Amino acid sequence: MIIKDYCLYCGACAGVCQVDAIEVKEVKIVIDEEKCVNCGICVKICPVNALEM
Ligand code: SF4
Ligand code: SF4
Repeated sequence: MIIKDYCLYCGACAGVCQVDAIEVKEVKIVIDEEKCVNCGICVKICPVNALEM
């Protein structure tokens, strides 16, 4: 999963993650690859297409 430079840190992806794998901080977003189950929901919810599988 790639985080592109145009993330707005809106938190929408973290809000939909069912396993709490995404943490959005003030100027960065961190995805815990051990928690992630590759469902792709965060990729679909991102308003600026900042996430990719
Ligand atoms: S792909 Fe699914 S499990 Fe992984 S971070 Fe995104 S919403 Fe969470
Ligand atoms: S939904 Fe997209 S813009 Fe919002 S915090 Fe997640 S990656 Fe960044």
